[in-house]
Amino acid sequence: MRALPIVIVLAACGSSGDATAPPDSAPELTNKRVVILMIGDGMGTGHREAASHFAHGAAGKLFLESLPVRGTVITAGPSGTTDSAAAATTMATGRRAYNGAIGIDRDGLPVQTVVELAHDLGLPAGIIATSALPHATPGAFTAHRKSRHTLADIAADQVSVVQPDVMLGGGAQYFARLEEHLEARYTVVRTAAGLAAAPRTGRLAGLFAPEHLAFSIARPADTTEPTLQEMSLAALDRLDAASEGGFFLMIEGSRIDMASHGNQLAEAIGETLAFDDTIELVSEWARGRDDVTLIVTSDHECGGLEVVTPNGAGVLPDVTWRWGQHTNASVGVYASGPGTEVLHDAEVTHRTIYQVIEARLRGRPFEAPSAERIPDGRLADLPTVAATQTTASGFGAGRNELEALRVAADEHGLAIGVEGVFERGKNALVILVDVDYGAATGPARMRGALADGSGVADGILSSLNLDAPAAAGFGVDLAIVSHGAEDPMLEQTVGEGGLRGVRAPYGVAGNLGWYGVAMAFDEDTKARPSPAPPRARRAGRGFEAHLAWHQLYPGGKPAAPTLAIAAVLVNDDGGYTSNQALPPFPPNTPNPARTPVALPGVVVVDVNAANAVSTTVAP
Ligand SMILES: [Zn+2]
Repeated sequence: MRALPIVIVLAACGSSGDATAPPDSAPELTNKRVVILMIGDGMGTGHREAASHFAHGAAGKLFLESLPVRGTVITAGPSGTTDSAAAATTMATGRRAYNGAIGIDRDGLPVQTVVELAHDLGLPAGIIATSALPHATPGAFTAHRKSRHTLADIAADQVSVVQPDVMLGGGAQYFARLEEHLEARYTVVRTAAGLAAAPRTGRLAGLFAPEHLAFSIARPADTTEPTLQEMSLAALDRLDAASEGGFFLMIEGSRIDMASHGNQLAEAIGETLAFDDTIELVSEWARGRDDVTLIVTSDHECGGLEVVTPNGAGVLPDVTWRWGQHTNASVGVYASGPGTEVLHDAEVTHRTIYQVIEARLRGRPFEAPSAERIPDGRLADLPTVAATQTTASGFGAGRNELEALRVAADEHGLAIGVEGVFERGKNALVILVDVDYGAATGPARMRGALADGSGVADGILSSLNLDAPAAAGFGVDLAIVSHGAEDPMLEQTVGEGGLRGVRAPYGVAGNLGWYGVAMAFDEDTKARPSPAPPRARRAGRGFEAHLAWHQLYPGGKPAAPTLAIAAVLVNDDGGYTSNQALPPFPPNTPNPARTPVALPGVVVVDVNAANAVSTTVAP
């Protein structure tokens, strides 16, 4: 039997004016599966606001903000605040990764990326970036390397292993020693004119700059580089024509992040607007189709950008930048097309983005990612509340409050959370950790125990005016410090904060060592410096640190360790103690100030063989 009669019946029905028939303009339902993921690297709320004010004279007017699906992405990963490599690896593979990893999970294993998945399903796939192509984000979709810094190796994976059907961007220098392999597998173009004239079939590589493409506001009049829009349209038309089944394409506005690391407002706005113009073009390209899934998001915020005063269209707004690093602020996700409904009004992670892409490419229902615990400052997943505050902050409510101490453990290590509010740039949160409570291996009295002035955090620990707590058997082995709510990433060792060793083998009194630790504050629990208004406390949010078992127990984790923990808020030099401690001081205790004071108690944490925790407070 041929299907022809059925087609005729349907056509007759559609033209009969039957009120139940779909309108003539309804697009044909197809099985084609087109997935376009657009990543604005480093683009946070402040970037969108600044760009919208500059281009349109008001906030909320970017094209991307008109997409029908809008949600929020919590960006932290197992390293705390994320970098582009880890975030992109998670979007590309659904698996968590440490910062710096390219298509490698947190166990060090290569994981199939969505580009490889598309190929497995018989679909073509492409990547586009305004950075070098082996840079972190495009690299994580098309390579498997332990370090983002091995750019030539990432390029080799791109050309010889993963082989995306289209790759357009910068980074020509990293492909120089691959010329022979590249030419054998790809049509290679190096200018916008070459891109326009390239054959419509076969693999295409566009290498338009030795490193990154120019900032869009700094493009020379005689540039040979294509725009992000030109690259995107070329890839869309080519991939769409290449396959009846659909395709996957990742498009990155790479350099919003780079401009933000340098706090370059005009460049950051220019890159955000070029990215937004490209989203509009892609959306136009998809208009009238029901088979295009478009997802727009960011890997993380960069710079802590906030608009202070808009100055109208065409004039740069007055802004503040917190610093030249990534922050742990949530970012937006904007989407349209099949499978994206699950993102609407939802608070998700980069793993959810992967699940939407995977479900769509495979043509099967969306599955929510499994539960996980990440040092993101969201503390609801640390269910054990071990101590709660009983005294209003003597350092100022809404700026310096330690409200509750939470703990949890899993196969990776011990998670410590401190609910509260933390002033940026001032005062310090100190968490003392005894890895073997009862053995009293480290100092019980911090006053006078240490003498290391090598960094701000070391100086604070060396100046603590804390006498021994009453709890017998307590001795400090390690300490977590954050001065001024700084939250370095796991791989960063900085003076302002991190993990310090109080006794051997972790450290010695005169040299505490600088250890990285996965830690982050929920960005909304950081108070701006006075005289800005204080922060309202947010239940279940604050500071979170994950101490890996190998950091706590370099010689091997005991089967069922008993630890003890105490947290205290002190001033910039560490010698002035506030009344904010956990376990808490008795109600109405004033700041002990520079008078030596004993800790009011410690939280004793028993971890069983299955990593379940139980806690008690020892006075
Ligand atoms: Zn960055």
